[in-house]
Amino acid sequence: MVSVERVIGFRDLPPEAALTNDYDKEVKDWPAGGEIDVKDLSVRYRSGLPLSLRGLSFTIKGGARVGIVGRTGGGKSTLVQSLLRLLEAEKGQIIIDDIDIAKLGLHKLRRSISVIPQSPVLYGGCSLRENLDPFHHHDDERIGEALYDVHMLEVVRSLSHGLDTTVAENGLNFSVGQRQLLCLARAILRRNKILVLDEPTANVDSRTDKLLQEAVAKSFSDATILAVAHRLDTVIDYDKILVLGAGGLLEYGTPHELVVKNGAFCSMIDDTGEEMANILKARARNNSS
Ligand code: ATP
Ligand code: MG
Repeated sequence: MVSVERVIGFRDLPPEAALTNDYDKEVKDWPAGGEIDVKDLSVRYRSGLPLSLRGLSFTIKGGARVGIVGRTGGGKSTLVQSLLRLLEAEKGQIIIDDIDIAKLGLHKLRRSISVIPQSPVLYGGCSLRENLDPFHHHDDERIGEALYDVHMLEVVRSLSHGLDTTVAENGLNFSVGQRQLLCLARAILRRNKILVLDEPTANVDSRTDKLLQEAVAKSFSDATILAVAHRLDTVIDYDKILVLGAGGLLEYGTPHELVVKNGAFCSMIDDTGEEMANILKARARNNSS
């Protein structure tokens, strides 16, 4: 009876928007530039709950790297979810390369944006190859190159079944850091124009963090990168910083501009302690000159 009740519960859930639609076919080679224009975006998780993003507006140039920072609950993950339409906009729009993403089928949209989430997802019961290349678009050589780029080629080679190794449930036959690197290899194979990192290195050691940052820099050199970060040193060298607070835009500018402004971002830098703050401020200054 419990199972039946759950099936009925699922049946009554409102479905997501259409996965494909006629408009998709008109939109070819999108997104080419990777420019993201967010206009007056308001989002809430459920009716009756307060807005989690309130009238957010900003523009990210194609190919720019933007760090998204802010105190906990500020709306960073909500913004990421809105980009993929896991949450639909209540008001406002997200325009990517002149296309309003609300008009697209969800498949087209979600295939075009790569996300490395905070907790890496591998699919249990499938082979490693299927995990990396679910649609069988690439040969072993290309998959090998992607694994090499994330420093996982040796690890995979040392497995007795190599790419045909079956991934355990929740990817438990790999460490968290390895799973994170494998997710990045998957993103590298897709070569999307837009990459979103939602704090992927929160749970890994500093060596894996470094490997990940280097691999991202190498493989996504001309992509638009949005990186949610609590550790400010991972984004201090980025082109711009977006500070979110209570669902609104607090500050948006180059790291150096925000340091000079001495506002919310600067106070977050100061919270890291005097020594770290001085290093971060020096790096922001050097990058601007
Ligand atoms: P953190 O740094 O802790 O990851 P964040 O900036 O990513 O924080 P969000 O997760 O975007 O913050 O949360 C923004 C607001 O939305 C918060 O007020 C939070 O309570 C609310 N919220 C987040 N997830 C949900 C959810 N699944 N259902 C309802 N409200 C949510
Ligand atoms: Mg979050």
